[in-house]
Amino acid sequence: MTRIALYPGSFDPVTNGHVDILRQSLALADKVVVAIGIHPGKMPLFSFEERVDLIHAAAREQFAPEDASRIEVISFANLVIDTARDQGAAYLVRGLRDGTDLDYEMQMAGMNGTLEPSIRTVFLPASPNVRHITATLVRQIAKMGGDIGAFVPASVAGPLRLRTGQAAM
Ligand code: ADP
Repeated sequence: MTRIALYPGSFDPVTNGHVDILRQSLALADKVVVAIGIHPGKMPLFSFEERVDLIHAAAREQFAPEDASRIEVISFANLVIDTARDQGAAYLVRGLRDGTDLDYEMQMAGMNGTLEPSIRTVFLPASPNVRHITATLVRQIAKMGGDIGAFVPASVAGPLRLRTGQAAM
């Protein structure tokens, strides 16, 4: 039986924090479906197609080929739990950075568990070296000319610098 984990988020762009959760998810499940939420009216820095490419590039950079090949990337615009059901997921993976994440995620896990009891929410703790990273701050730092090299994989840093008007390094 193939154990599938759904890992939903914005991934605009994928960061070292996301990679850490992906690595942990690959140890739990046979296949990890990264689900990029599409919100009409919200203007992302990277298009859906670009975010897909960056996730695959980061996975190729960070993981062995046999692990990178167990990652699939899709988009979703409906409820996360419906997407998880459609994908045949056993687990819904969420990364926890701090108590603020926990408070919100506990509510979501409770609601999703009521909507679909057969899908288990799995909280994965951020590794200490990446727990401060948020994609929102990474975008802000990049737009203001700061060095984002410590927060995203090298394959993401180049496109991020170009997109935010920094000369490629
Ligand atoms: P962000 O909150 O950085 O904008 P997303 O909305 O794409 O990122 O988050 C998707 C998932 O990834 C969430 O479960 C979130 O908690 C997790 N995540 C994001 N950054 C980190 C991190 N640095 N460490 C652990 N989990 C993270």
